[in-house]
Amino acid sequence: MHKNSTITINKEAHKKNIDFIKKTFGNKVILSSVVKGNAYGHGLAEFSKMAYSNGVTHFSVFDVEEAKIVFDTLGKKVTILIMGFVADDDLKWVIQNNIEFFVFERYRLAKATKTAKKLKQKAIIHIEVETGMNRTGFDIKTISKVAQFIIKEKESIYFKGLCTHYAGAESIANYYRVSKQIEIFNKADQIIKSHGIEPEIRHSACSAASMMFPETRMDLVRVGILQYGLWPSPEVLVSYLNTKKKKIDPLERVISWKSEVMSVKRVKSGEFIGYGTSFMARENMKIATIPLGYSHGYSRSLSNQGRVLINGQRCMLIGTVNMNMLTIDVTEVEHVKKGDEVVLIGKQDALSLSVASFSDLSNQLNYELLTRISKTIPRQTI
Ligand SMILES: *Cc1c(COP(=O)(O)O)cnc(C)c1O
Repeated sequence: MHKNSTITINKEAHKKNIDFIKKTFGNKVILSSVVKGNAYGHGLAEFSKMAYSNGVTHFSVFDVEEAKIVFDTLGKKVTILIMGFVADDDLKWVIQNNIEFFVFERYRLAKATKTAKKLKQKAIIHIEVETGMNRTGFDIKTISKVAQFIIKEKESIYFKGLCTHYAGAESIANYYRVSKQIEIFNKADQIIKSHGIEPEIRHSACSAASMMFPETRMDLVRVGILQYGLWPSPEVLVSYLNTKKKKIDPLERVISWKSEVMSVKRVKSGEFIGYGTSFMARENMKIATIPLGYSHGYSRSLSNQGRVLINGQRCMLIGTVNMNMLTIDVTEVEHVKKGDEVVLIGKQDALSLSVASFSDLSNQLNYELLTRISKTIPRQTI
């Protein structure tokens, strides 16, 4: 088992985020917890269990593999929605277990209907509309045909949702594009209504859209990044603070990542540290090594840039990030010794390292940095 580092997820912080989200949306809107990408690196099984204990009963995942982990963890107590990939031979398991899924092409619509017929069960589907992201979804021109198909196959199809996804609601630069998407989505909804049928729910918003375009909340919001206590972009946070005339970020980071000092050594002025010549000691230095590297998801682009907390002090990562090791400058830190706690994300004494400060350094999004954190690192709920 991996002992080099531990990740903890904080139940109280998550509860606080969920309460904020629910208060913002009102209680008519269903909150679907988006847990794709190993729950944004938080650990899918551990995170979904914790979210459930905080009152979340709806989960959105990307594929069947993730759906199975949530299903094995929480079973039939929750609704599971697959937003992305379902292999043909997994459709049977999906339909049998009432797992809901996005349908974005005729092929899948037909295949799902056929499988449902065989099982004498209904496939619970969410029709995804192509509104301008140009990734997946039925073109507006085909929506009429889709409606007719659903009417014809109503014994095998449960038309649960109509949905879409926005192409970059976290940036005001995309305002026009997203507004256009909302219009097209509403048009698709009208076309379906004109056939005398309706989905049970409509949904379109991710975290950013739900904050920047409140009209996109509809019946359900697929909330990813916000529930983890992070903002989709600084713009969304600033916009929230401005409109609410608030100064304090209402969210709290759920994840912490900690390791320990593996060894301490002295390096003479003029020596290079680590591979190659990217870092030369300009004075006599004291270096601590940490048993983590890019194989654990610590990005190599943080070479000579990352920061960690040791003995309550902020310390610089020096040299390149290795496969399994980091070297940290602890020249100014007194009494550093093997076994001392190292914080990569989280708090130590009065200081705190956020995911954002960490990822801004390397121009990565919060999202990417989190999901890279290796699955082999144990997750604990506190
Ligand atoms: C990832 C994802 C979301 C959640 O996005 P956040 O920005 O993390 O809230 C919502 N909908 C779809 C289709 C997604 O892929």
